[in-house]
Amino acid sequence: MPTDFAATRDQFHLPKGVIYLDGNSLGPLPRAAAARVASCVTDEWGDMLIRGWNAAGWMDQPTKLGDRIGRLIGAEAGSIVLGDTLSIKVYQALASALDMVPSRRVILSDTGNFPSDLYMAEGLCRTLGPEYRLVTVAPEDVADALTEDVAVLMLTQVDYRTGRLHDMAALTALAHEKGAIAVWDLAHSAGALPVDLAACRADFAVGCTYKYLNSGPGGPAFIYVAPRHQDTTRPALSGWLGHAAPFAFDLHYRPGSGIERMRVGTPPVLQLAALGASLDIWDTVDMAALRARSVALCEAFITGVEATCPTLTLASPRNADQRGSQVSFRHPEGYAIMQALIAQGVIGDFRAPDILRFGFTPLYTSDADVSGAVAILAGIMASNSWDQPAFKTRAKVT
Ligand SMILES: *Cc1c(COP(=O)(O)O)cnc(C)c1O
Repeated sequence: MPTDFAATRDQFHLPKGVIYLDGNSLGPLPRAAAARVASCVTDEWGDMLIRGWNAAGWMDQPTKLGDRIGRLIGAEAGSIVLGDTLSIKVYQALASALDMVPSRRVILSDTGNFPSDLYMAEGLCRTLGPEYRLVTVAPEDVADALTEDVAVLMLTQVDYRTGRLHDMAALTALAHEKGAIAVWDLAHSAGALPVDLAACRADFAVGCTYKYLNSGPGGPAFIYVAPRHQDTTRPALSGWLGHAAPFAFDLHYRPGSGIERMRVGTPPVLQLAALGASLDIWDTVDMAALRARSVALCEAFITGVEATCPTLTLASPRNADQRGSQVSFRHPEGYAIMQALIAQGVIGDFRAPDILRFGFTPLYTSDADVSGAVAILAGIMASNSWDQPAFKTRAKVT
């Protein structure tokens, strides 16, 4: 299935004068999402009131939309449910995974992981008891650190700072060989590159929808449980909507069947409406074509920046096979340079201590965006126009 990326670009609202290279952090608005959300508000919430749960199918959206995300990440039908935020889903997956290896006490992760994932693991260890611990090693040392005391290998496939890509198939196979469970965070993978959870035999996976999947700020996370585990997994967050019969209002928890048990509470209906509009676009996308286009955009950006900005150092792997869909450069004044770029309409972001991060999202990033961003960045670096107090004041969100 060929994908027409000019046509997908037309389906997004992209403000004039902006080159948006931050869809890895917050995807832009799909044009259809505004009307879809408005209709969900007025026609469903407004007119149906509580009848919307059945009449508009609100309660089924977390699994229906989950299946559509499943196609993008190689998940079996019926193995994904949406809800909560990614931090919560990390906790939930990790708790269930630890429960499956009761004789072991170690969670292994890496120092490139997103802090919230590590914080959730630390919090869970504290709750479970002093013998539980989180061990973090450098990303390149994960395989060597996978010893037979590791209960759960918890990794984010694409490093949020550098874009470095872990080999999911190989590390999952190694984890299984050592008797550990593999939990993958796909925050920077889902919608960024082809993933094949089923072929990799991943046990659990989690991810968010507001980055590459464009569900809008506050959009829900998703959780994947391999079909072979679904009916034995114990949900540590045993909320009423994961109960076998939520409307029986039993006083004791009984897990629902399959992936349903990973629900916690009320689904975010308005955000799911926005996600539905975005997935209408994603349904037309071939993931191999997406990857080819993403690599081409990233390569063009690297070549352009290296040719014009000698003081910026590539922080991402040079080999495209080892990179997600983002490119990062280092500079000690990275924050100020990014503010100068944003002032000229090129929106990327900054990650401490010195990373300028640029996301490339084939659905709406064009070749002209890449060359335009390179030209503006080159101008800023050549003139040192970033070197002003106004660009050095840190905002709350970077
Ligand atoms: C973006 C991101 C998060 C954010 O978690 P929220 O609970 O949605 O705020 C967590 N982990 C990773 C790896 C991320 O990239």
